[in-house]
Amino acid sequence: MSDRHDETRPTLAAVLWAAFMQRCPRCLEGRMFRGMFAMNDPCPKCGLLFQREEGYFLGAMYFSYVLGAAVILPLYFLFAALLPGWDGVRVAALAWLAYLPFVPVIFRYSRVLWVYLERSGRFNGSDATVYEKLRLSEIEREKAANGPRQGAEGAVTPGSPTAPPSRGP
Ligand SMILES: [Zn+2]
Repeated sequence: MSDRHDETRPTLAAVLWAAFMQRCPRCLEGRMFRGMFAMNDPCPKCGLLFQREEGYFLGAMYFSYVLGAAVILPLYFLFAALLPGWDGVRVAALAWLAYLPFVPVIFRYSRVLWVYLERSGRFNGSDATVYEKLRLSEIEREKAANGPRQGAEGAVTPGSPTAPPSRGP
């Protein structure tokens, strides 16, 4: 109804919440990770590719430096205050040990932040990289190869029970 046609753009709060929940930046629903470090790529919900180029996630390292420092520095100063008799090296070692459990979280959020920033709301294929187009066409081919049989045994269709996908010449 407004003159500038916004194609139901999500609110900033919705985007921030999706980033916090490590969801896809386009559909805000698909999980970006399926394990501690393993990514879902493409998005299981809308098919958005997260890795857009070889070495794409090197950019996430900037975020991991910042996030890592934001965790380890307060730990260092906390331990330095709690253990005044300790020298700097031992306090640093302790801070580093206490930092280790945060590594998966930092890894994941640095990738999430990188993808959100690098995409910054641009999801149409017009600026797709060569690598991206290649992978998308690969995924399409895979889907075409083993797509039709999705609901394995759920729906019993009376038509053709076993339709051979290929008919030879
Ligand atoms: Zn998605």
